[in-house]
Amino acid sequence: MIKLLTFAVIGAYLYFSLKKYFSKKSPKPEFSHSGEFTEDELVEDPFCHTFVAEHNAVSKIFHGKKEFFCSQECASKYQLIQESN
Ligand SMILES: [Zn+2]
Repeated sequence: MIKLLTFAVIGAYLYFSLKKYFSKKSPKPEFSHSGEFTEDELVEDPFCHTFVAEHNAVSKIFHGKKEFFCSQECASKYQLIQESN
């Protein structure tokens, strides 16, 4: 019985120290709502509706509005749709 309790204590200790370690190591990215774009800001590809990080996205301006795409291919396809309208 004492042995089991020791295991429980050690287990709990390990669990909490690991939890503490990981929460320190990888803090949740904070999104700024000040209007300023952060590096991890996600943007939606209007063609395939995939969310991509803004700094990895391909940006193009359509009708004065900046659109972001996951790839050059999506940008081209979206452009074709826009032009056919
Ligand atoms: Zn896409």
